[in-house]
Amino acid sequence: TLAAAPAATTVDPLLPQIAQAAVQTGTMRASMAQLEQQVTASRQEIERLRQDLDQAREDAVTDPLTHLLNRKGFQHFLESLVQAPPGGGAAPGLIMIDVDHFKQVNDQHGHTMGDRVLAGLGEVLRAVVPRQVGWSARYGGEEFAVLLSATTGERATQLADALRDRIAAMKLRNRQTNEVVLTVTVSTGVALHRPGEDSTGFVARADKALYRSKQTGRNRTSLAP
Ligand code: GH3
Ligand code: MG
Ligand code: MG
Repeated sequence: TLAAAPAATTVDPLLPQIAQAAVQTGTMRASMAQLEQQVTASRQEIERLRQDLDQAREDAVTDPLTHLLNRKGFQHFLESLVQAPPGGGAAPGLIMIDVDHFKQVNDQHGHTMGDRVLAGLGEVLRAVVPRQVGWSARYGGEEFAVLLSATTGERATQLADALRDRIAAMKLRNRQTNEVVLTVTVSTGVALHRPGEDSTGFVARADKALYRSKQTGRNRTSLAP
């Protein structure tokens, strides 16, 4: 049986408005989705910029060759330690390290090999001085520094000697032939922070001890009086 056709088709007078509202809802949904997409994209952009900023901050205090702190980064930790030393029988310690006859390394083996030596020194310093023990830095050129937050003359000297031994044991090889072509030694100078001493004075005393190590034959450690 066929359903009877409606007797009369009454056209809802609101139909055009409903249709228009439906179109508007659709448009609104589309623009909402677009807005959400834009918000997500902005969030991602902010996160990327934040990461870039973190990286830039880290780069500003890192030496690219050795991946150690650079002078600026080192100075930051040195200043805060000197301003608030630990006390209680232990003092901040500073080890200055300078490669012996490094100019000869460059002259005899080339600057690239010289750079490999410096990168190797960075690896040794990172391995021997983890962050809980202290901060290692490339102080400049072929000079390195280790800052210990709380130590004694004996312990700092021991650490300096351990570093010297590890560095002297480093063997630089020819990358093609694998033969050992070079070893290096370093001289070190150790100073313990004196109450009230500023960073310049502290570094100067460690430097003076280093100079004494150079003067008395190199490949040795001297403790500043
Ligand atoms: P000493 O035992 O008295 O310390 O002698 P030295 O030859 O190590 O001292 P000197 O200060 O005369 O030479 C330091 C050399 O370090 C000179 C410089 O070319 C080299 N040097 C500094 N920075 C770098 C670097 O980034 N890469 C390389 N390959 N060499 C560097
Ligand atoms: Mg030097
Ligand atoms: Mg040197």
